[in-house]
Amino acid sequence: MALSANLGFPRVGAKRELKKAQEAYWAGKISQEELFKVGAELRARHWELCKAAGIDHIPSNDFTYYDHVLDTATTVGAVPERYEWDGKKEVDLDTFFAMARGNKKVGAMEMTKWFDTNYHYLVPELHAGMKFRLSGHKPFRHYEEAKALGIETRPVLLGPVSFLLLGKMKDGGDALSLLDALLPVYEEILGKLKSLGAEWVQIDEPCFVLDQGEPARAALKKAYDRLSKVAPKIMIATYFDALEENMDAVFGLPVAGVHVDLVRAPQQLDAALKAAGKDKVLSLGVIDGRNIWRANLSAALKPVEKAVAALGSDRVIVAPSCSLLHTPVDLDNETALDAELKSWMAFAKQKLAEVAAIASAVNGKKDAAAFEASDKAAATRKTSPRINNKAVQERWSKVTPDMLKRQHPFATRVAAQRKALGLPLFPTTTIGSFPQTPEIRQHRADFKKGAIDEAAYNDFLKQEIAECVKIQEDIGLDVFVHGEAERNDMVEYFGEQLDGYTFTKFGWVQSYGSRCVKPPIIFGDISRPKAMTVDWSVYAQSLTDKPMKGMLTGPVTILQWSFVRDDQPRATTAGQLALALRDEVQDLEKAGIKVIQIDEPAVREGLPLRRKDWKSYLRWAVDAFRLCSAGVKDETQIHTHMCYAEFNDIIEAVAEMDADVISIETSRSQMELLGAFEDFKYPNEIGPGVYDIHSPRVVPQAEMEALLKKAVAVLKPEQIWVNPDCGLKTRKWEETRICLANLVGAARTMRAAYAVPAGKQANG
Ligand code: GLN
Ligand code: ZN
Repeated sequence: MALSANLGFPRVGAKRELKKAQEAYWAGKISQEELFKVGAELRARHWELCKAAGIDHIPSNDFTYYDHVLDTATTVGAVPERYEWDGKKEVDLDTFFAMARGNKKVGAMEMTKWFDTNYHYLVPELHAGMKFRLSGHKPFRHYEEAKALGIETRPVLLGPVSFLLLGKMKDGGDALSLLDALLPVYEEILGKLKSLGAEWVQIDEPCFVLDQGEPARAALKKAYDRLSKVAPKIMIATYFDALEENMDAVFGLPVAGVHVDLVRAPQQLDAALKAAGKDKVLSLGVIDGRNIWRANLSAALKPVEKAVAALGSDRVIVAPSCSLLHTPVDLDNETALDAELKSWMAFAKQKLAEVAAIASAVNGKKDAAAFEASDKAAATRKTSPRINNKAVQERWSKVTPDMLKRQHPFATRVAAQRKALGLPLFPTTTIGSFPQTPEIRQHRADFKKGAIDEAAYNDFLKQEIAECVKIQEDIGLDVFVHGEAERNDMVEYFGEQLDGYTFTKFGWVQSYGSRCVKPPIIFGDISRPKAMTVDWSVYAQSLTDKPMKGMLTGPVTILQWSFVRDDQPRATTAGQLALALRDEVQDLEKAGIKVIQIDEPAVREGLPLRRKDWKSYLRWAVDAFRLCSAGVKDETQIHTHMCYAEFNDIIEAVAEMDADVISIETSRSQMELLGAFEDFKYPNEIGPGVYDIHSPRVVPQAEMEALLKKAVAVLKPEQIWVNPDCGLKTRKWEETRICLANLVGAARTMRAAYAVPAGKQANG
């Protein structure tokens, strides 16, 4: 008989119960026991959900009070010295939280994105010669906790090789050199789980869907040659992409089973069937763990039937593609969602039922009603007029290469822009948002509740804008912004005004720790019923003679931070977004806005996991940006903004976006990223951030000047803009005013130092 499995369940709870408990604990409002009680309730509830759905392999130890990679680090005793753990007993909760969030004495560990998801993990800190020891008993406790509830579980661990590969060697050495020291702890954990009665364990080795060299594969072999001797039956789980060149290495391990992701990489089925040889169990990820769409059960059943025909049903397990961590918990709570839209969706709880339905069907007990409902949803989704907007589809099919090109190359445009804008050398600007004060948030909430009407809300926003303009005048900035007070979120704000978008009430997914995001959902062809930002920008411009920057979120970022359609390529959805934004850009230009910024902070995080796929992604991502920005006159200046520091490997694509000005984050890395510009001569203008907006620290003028001096070492003075790292919405006005005054001061110093003698200016 084919079995069903789940790889992990969202921890936060359908109503973000965990978030509330975590934050209450951090605020000293509840005790550790109360926090643990909430955790136990959530675990019990989620195990029961799996059981009720008919899942055979139910995960335990997927729950964490912060992050599963941090769990692994504390379980094996990888606690950096500065957290002053005595090393004797189990790592306690407060040490665990100090590593995650810092405390009064020390900062947090570094955090980074989990593969290509929007989940962030804490990066294990490693160094040569470090010792590991078992110092966390959660895997055992949770296994036994479930058992006491009458539920047999399959404990989940992050595998030793992926753990090391995801970590960072502080001394620059090779993380895999620590494998010998680490394996005894894994042997101890696995031996203990076996003695407690676990029949299976799930060990995640997702790093093997990435490009890996021979040393990683050798480490994998070494690890599982040893671990398989003491462990329960091992299911190696891989997800987010295909195994490809690592396929034989993974299937060649002496383990009982391998899980492969057939949603992201359906093409690997045949190779996996072959690699499964005579005895491996194959776990097939056929239900999408990364999105909110209801599965087409008939289609998802096909590869499972094929596997059963090839291997026999006893060697097949049906599963979601990856842990359900990346989906919201329960669609049933979306009582306000339109019934038809809802009929196309599935959250974690509904996905469990889909997994079970496929397993039953392949075992000859097909739930006809479930399949019929799924077929019907798939059919209406294909033809629904709410999804299909012929005009948009046609417009997209008619996009021509000249629509991706500005009228003239940058060298020509820059002269027209200098003339139109009359800016000084080292022009100053900000990235868009100004402090989102409690007052702004209060007014927004009141407006949403209906406590104030639209006219009153708009009046309030106008006042805010006027104040912002006044402050910028006083400080002496050169290119102004309106401050974005009207925006709750840089993607949601646009999603709410575009057709083809919908929103949920409880569609939360964990981003990191207690932080959750509620991505809007793109369900259909995207169109723009009317201008979205023009009125605000025009009003702001009416208050000043300085150029007012129009402010938009770019197509790739909107795409990246939404749940997207799975019925057309991402490139097509990005293209539709780009067309809607192109109209907005042109409307802004028509309304007299001379500078338009299109933020694309998410371009880098959209990079595919495999290098070989980068080129095609960067092609359509760059084209989407060009499509939305290229329809303007030479003298209209297009800006873009990206807030990260790793540029070296995508710098050419960034240059190809052909924005007239790009602002980037550089201050935290002390302009290190400008290294990228040493080898590659960035052709257009660039604003390397001169102060970090993530902290309330008042940054002295001299510090900003020092950074600008570093910038002139690799860039031409006339290329350089002066701006902060990112938007200022999380800051307070107090420090913001002083920082910006210092920024203007720094720009003035630079101007004096680099002034072109009269009569020698290149651009008159
Ligand atoms: N314009 C946005 C702001 O200033 C940019 C935010 C971002 O880059 N994440 O808030
Ligand atoms: Zn930013």
